[in-house]
Amino acid sequence: MKKQPSSDKRGKGAASRSRRRLGREPVSVVTGAAGFLGSHLTDYLLAQGHRVIGIDNLITGSVANIEHLAGEPRFRFICQDVTEYLFLAGPVDYVWHFASPASPADYMNYPIQTLKVGSLGTHKALGLARHKGARFLLASTSEVYGDPEVHPQSEDYWGHVNPVGPRGCYDESKRFAEALTMAYQREHGLETRIVRIFNTYGPRMRLNDGRVVPNFITQALQGRPLTVFGDGSQTRSFCYVSDLIEGVYRLMLSDYGLPVNVGNPTELTVLEFAREILRLTGSKSRIVFKPLPQDDPRQRRPDITRARQLLDWSPRVPLEEGLRRTIEDFRKRLGK
Ligand code: UDP
Repeated sequence: MKKQPSSDKRGKGAASRSRRRLGREPVSVVTGAAGFLGSHLTDYLLAQGHRVIGIDNLITGSVANIEHLAGEPRFRFICQDVTEYLFLAGPVDYVWHFASPASPADYMNYPIQTLKVGSLGTHKALGLARHKGARFLLASTSEVYGDPEVHPQSEDYWGHVNPVGPRGCYDESKRFAEALTMAYQREHGLETRIVRIFNTYGPRMRLNDGRVVPNFITQALQGRPLTVFGDGSQTRSFCYVSDLIEGVYRLMLSDYGLPVNVGNPTELTVLEFAREILRLTGSKSRIVFKPLPQDDPRQRRPDITRARQLLDWSPRVPLEEGLRRTIEDFRKRLGK
């Protein structure tokens, strides 16, 4: 993989440039700050010298993800639903809109909240950015491509989404969020960024969030059968969380206003993935096959040409290494 400048060098340089320009520390608002990605992003921003205001209503996020920040003077947490008016005193330089259920099991449990946070929540977060003159980044998703008919998926592909199927609440809320973000960019001249996030994994994923990574690791560590949906021939491409956050940060600092895929193009079938989890955990669990959920995408792999060219970014953590770190975290939390 291509060699990149170290994240610290690049990030700290950018942060100190921005401190010099502003005459103070940059201030970031992270919606969904108690979630899996939001909490890792918050840690990263604090390490780059930002002050961070985290907002979360904790429907799928957890205080456990941010409790290590208790007493950190540059972090403030507000427990609020971002679909309600966001009132914040003082300057804000960056708004990172990460709030949303993101696991299929979660967004099927909360279809209305999912639609509301993608529509009303994005509206409020954009309104905050506009009012503060801040730059805005939307956490969008590979789900905007639906069950894709082109492979791998590049940003120019418009997608193949069933609006009335069980995944429609998430897919369409994110598609609407992208459209609203572009409208604010075009009508109000707001500086906006859109990242399309592909399957990401790492420490802090909720044990029972229902996605394939937490399910398989938990099942393997507890000696229960691994539940492969369908025949397991559908594919996914998994990106380690630190790579993802680095890509997101570079995108925010870039001057590019159209969507950019960030993910790891290493693709494997769900069945291969189950076998990899068994190998890395040393588990003796069986694999069992369960019905494939409706509209489950057959294949998914990001084309990351744009991220490579514009952001000089590509993933660095190999799957085995990332999974070992994730399994370690799950072992601690499960007491295994
Ligand atoms: N999956 C599976 N077993 C599980 C959970 C998920 O086989 O216990 C499959 C699911 O059908 C999908 C893939 O793993 O094909 C990834 O599912 P996930 O819920 O992680 O997210 P998605 O990529 O579908 O949004």
